[in-house]
Amino acid sequence: MDKIYFDYNSSTPLDKRVFKKMLPYLGANFANPSAIYSIAQKAKNAIEDARISVANLLGAKPKEIIFTSGGTEANNLAIKGFCFANRAKGNHIITSKIEHSSVLNVFNFLETKNFKVTYLDVDEYGIINMEQLESCMDKETILLSIMHVNNEIGTIQPIEKLKAICNKRKVCFHTDAVQSFGKVEVDVAFADLITVSSHKIYGPKGAGALYVGSGISIEPLLHGGHQEEELRPGTEAVASIVGFGEACRLRLQEMKAEQIKVKKMRDALEAGILKTVKGIKVNGHPQNRLYNTLNICIEGVEAQNLVINLDMRGFCASSGSACQARVPEVSYVLIATGMSQKDCAGALRLSLGKFNKESDIHALLKVLPEIIKNLRASASHG
Ligand SMILES: *Cc1c(COP(=O)(O)O)cnc(C)c1O
Repeated sequence: MDKIYFDYNSSTPLDKRVFKKMLPYLGANFANPSAIYSIAQKAKNAIEDARISVANLLGAKPKEIIFTSGGTEANNLAIKGFCFANRAKGNHIITSKIEHSSVLNVFNFLETKNFKVTYLDVDEYGIINMEQLESCMDKETILLSIMHVNNEIGTIQPIEKLKAICNKRKVCFHTDAVQSFGKVEVDVAFADLITVSSHKIYGPKGAGALYVGSGISIEPLLHGGHQEEELRPGTEAVASIVGFGEACRLRLQEMKAEQIKVKKMRDALEAGILKTVKGIKVNGHPQNRLYNTLNICIEGVEAQNLVINLDMRGFCASSGSACQARVPEVSYVLIATGMSQKDCAGALRLSLGKFNKESDIHALLKVLPEIIKNLRASASHG
């Protein structure tokens, strides 16, 4: 039986059209794009076409796009690359408490390299505290990194306000846009450095990119050949990059129509759960929340057990964020929103995407109340 998939924020299935575009570069055309014979030039051209497609979805110039192995690498390149290139200007850098681990752990690392880090608080909905941001900035501040959309709760930050604050103080602004890119509009006007990833938008794993605005200098993390403006040397993952480009081209055409369809299903799921199960709290911002994400706290239930039970009934869902799923730890994102340890333990994330059907929603609503009821009964007897 095919699983019914509600974990699109973790990864997405590869679009068949993307897969088809990748095939030649996994087969007959294996050439190194740096070579000079014609099949190598063909591979090189395919990479440049992909660069145009990624740039188009961001409103960027192709030369501003640096391909990486994914979002994690692009976040590392943006933050470490900027800090190492600009440390003479100051050593204070700012992020938030709810960033993805591939941002938070980079800031933790930079603390060991003599950078001073401010981790901003968020409100109950996961929105950055603007007063705290403005008051912590000083002459030493060189970088702010705030994600556009949170992967766990879907909260959308007021990105234009953040950029304006940074502009006023000549501070570089980086945003991790992995969860918003290809789902809602993400524009180069939003930030100086923007991280995007392929496998969250129906592209293959192994590709991502960093947008680097003009006038922003970063240092490479790797040293080697001349690829990617020497910011990311190494023979390119041609097939993955080509797939990423095709995924972006398709998102540009299809994103708008899917927003409405997916939001309708998410809202129906939310309403259905609230109607049939008591003791539910919806997490994230009531309005400024990505249309595909539903994160709920379920009273009296351990989300890990719920996810296992859902799996046995044929559903894929997530408790907390995917990166923490194997660690029995509650979500630091929900803790930052002021939630208690106990409430966090019952947090379930359902994230939808373009292959979901209305029948998936009905199927989940049919089994979820019963699973929760049984888990609550066994917890109170246990
Ligand atoms: C998935 C994710 C990443 C990491 O991207 P990879 O391409 O999997 O390395 C970074 N940030 C956010 C918000 C994500 O959801």
